[in-house]
This record gives sequence, C-alpha cells and structure tokens, in this order.
Amino acid sequence: MSQRVVLRNVTKTFGSVVAIKTISLEIEEGEFLTLLGPSGCGKTTTLRLIAGFNDPDHGQILLGDQDITNLPPQKREIGMVFQDYALFPHLTIKENIAFPLRERRTPKEKINDRVEELLELVRLPGVEGRYPSELSGGQAQRISVARAVAYPPRVLLMDEPLGALDLKLREAMQLELRRIQRELQITTVFVTHDQTEAMNMSDRIAVMRNGEVEQVGTAREIYNFPQSSFVADFVGRINLLDAKLLSKSGGIAELKILDDARIRAKIAPEVESMSKSLCVGIRPEKLVIRSSGHEDRYDNRIPGTVIRSTFSGNLLDVFVDVGASKPFLVEQRPDKVPLDSGTQVEVCWNAPDALILSAE
Ligand code: ATP
Repeated sequence: MSQRVVLRNVTKTFGSVVAIKTISLEIEEGEFLTLLGPSGCGKTTTLRLIAGFNDPDHGQILLGDQDITNLPPQKREIGMVFQDYALFPHLTIKENIAFPLRERRTPKEKINDRVEELLELVRLPGVEGRYPSELSGGQAQRISVARAVAYPPRVLLMDEPLGALDLKLREAMQLELRRIQRELQITTVFVTHDQTEAMNMSDRIAVMRNGEVEQVGTAREIYNFPQSSFVADFVGRINLLDAKLLSKSGGIAELKILDDARIRAKIAPEVESMSKSLCVGIRPEKLVIRSSGHEDRYDNRIPGTVIRSTFSGNLLDVFVDVGASKPFLVEQRPDKVPLDSGTQVEVCWNAPDALILSAE
C-alpha cells in the first residue's frame, strides 16, 4: 500500500540554525525521488521530518490523505535505511529481518515465510543464520533494506545508503536497490550528494540548496534545462561565464561576456530582465576546439590558450584559458591527439547549446 507524500510549506530550525527554510514537495505514489545537494543543505533533516524523528516548526506533511505532521514515528509505517546499515550486531540475519514483524506480533510461521521471501527479494538466500559481522558491506545493506520493507511500509526512506561502499559495489547496488524498489512499487525518498548516483537511480531529482528545493525534475530536465547556475554546476560539468544581455529577438539573445566578446545564445521567453545578474553556461561536450582563424559554421568562438589535457579513458579533457576566472573545460574524444600547452586555439559552440542562467 504504497502512498504519495506531500510536504507543504515545511520549515525547521535547530536553535539559530535554519536547516529547512521552506520546502513544498510532492512525491508521487510508487515514485523514486532523490534529494540531492551539497553537505548541510537539509537533505537528512527533510528525511527525518518525513519519518517523524524531527517535528517541523511550521507546515504540514501528508501521507496519502492522512495528515501525519503530529503522528509519532512508530505510527507512520515508514521504512528507513541508513548509511551504516544499523543492523543489530547480536542478532542473526533472520532475527534482524524478523524484528519489525515480531514487534507487530506476526505469527511465527508467517515470519519464517516472510524472511525467506525477503532473502529471495534481496538475492541472499541462505544467510539467515549468520551475524551482521559475517556479511560484506553490500550484503549488510541488502539485509537492512529487507528489514526496512519486512512489514510493508507505506514509504521507504534511504539516507545515503551506499555511502560506505566502494565505487564498483556502489554502482551494482544502485541497480539492485532500484530493482527492489520497482518490484515492490514503493514510494521512495533517497538522499545522496552524488549527482551520478541520483541521475542513475531516480524518477525525479529534487536539487536542494541552503534548506530549499531549487529545482525538481527528471535527470534529463535538470541536466538539459537547469534553472540556475547552482543547479547547472552541481549536476554535471559546465563552463560558466558572467554575461550581460544586450538584446534579444526571435528567441536568440546577444550577450556580452569576458571583456567585450559578443556571443549569441538561445533565450527562453521568461528571461526578461536586461539588468538581472545572468551567466551563460556551456556543457564541455558541446564545445569544439579549432585552430585560430579556421573558418566554419559555429555561431560563437572565443580565443584561448591550451593549459593542459588529461586523459581519463573514455574522454580527453582539455583545459583552455579564455580569460575567465576559471579555465574552460572542453571534452574531446579520447583518440584525439592532445594539444600542447600554450597552443593558441578558438573554443567554438552553437547558440542553442548555451544556457542562459540566473547567476545567484
Ligand atoms: P550531509 O550531506 O552533510 O549529511 P544534509 O544535507 O543532510 O548534509 P542536514 O543534516 O539536514 O544536511 O543539516 C542541515 C543543517 O542543519 C546543517 O547546517 C546542520 O548542521 C543542521 N542540523 C541538522 N541537525 C541538527 C541538530 N540536531 N542540531 C543542530 N543543527 C542541526
């Protein structure tokens, strides 16, 4: 009986620390939504508010049609998975998984069947007699998921559940957690500060900053249409330049960047202000390097000097000094011959590939 979760104008302070400024968020039934953001932006606090471990100062939290704002945690029927697994070390795996079922006085035969079913679900049949110390990190996390969903919760909350695992295992567990979530069709709120993990796993991502949700959308929406330079910079790699809007017509804007370079970029109708502090963002995969003076079809070109190239297997990252505060990053195919440091080049891109963003 998966349920939708609604947070309405929720705020939370701890003494003088404002953990949540105001959050309004709707998580659909069966959806996998990730709270993504830098350390301290309020991800865990949001999760704890949904779980009932913290009370909001203002606002309302709904689960399905029920207002759960003042309901104690044990009555919310929410499953929770933590980064450190939180398994009971003195109990066997079977006893760990059975714990929430025993608490709810489930008959013994039913518990045995359910434990077996859950071990199948997390693909670990046969480990019921072991103790948590006899499992690997990935296995322990599967068991803590099994325990969290043992007495089917209305919502599953996961706080950085893969944070303690190495990269390869982490990637395998991302697929595994998503498979389990799909199989159970359970509404899930997942917390991470790892943008790749968020993009790999989520139906939608809520990007948080300073106790607020800055943007909610699918991975594609957030990557391709970020609504601020913060979101553009946090999700994926991007080159950002302060820009002044000079004119716009027919959906194309002319902007001034750097000292006095003029560029053209696609502009959304809602970008109105000519004075607002704006910046232009260009993803490194949209940039092309040309030798100076090379004639071709690109809408924009700025001169620069190659600083260095780094090879990472599937990409060649070229850093170019274009006179901005940070070098421009250009992603090239790995089979390109790396350019020598000091080479004079032009960095080129087309108008539709530049994003006009608010600079705050
Ligand atoms: P991280 O990724 O580092 O876990 P987070 O995004 O989950 O960070 P929160 O743990 O929600 O952030 O914390 C948000 C803010 O609230 C931080 O400034 C934090 O120091 C503060 N905070 C959280 N819990 C408490 C508490 N119990 N008492 C005082 N301040 C708190």
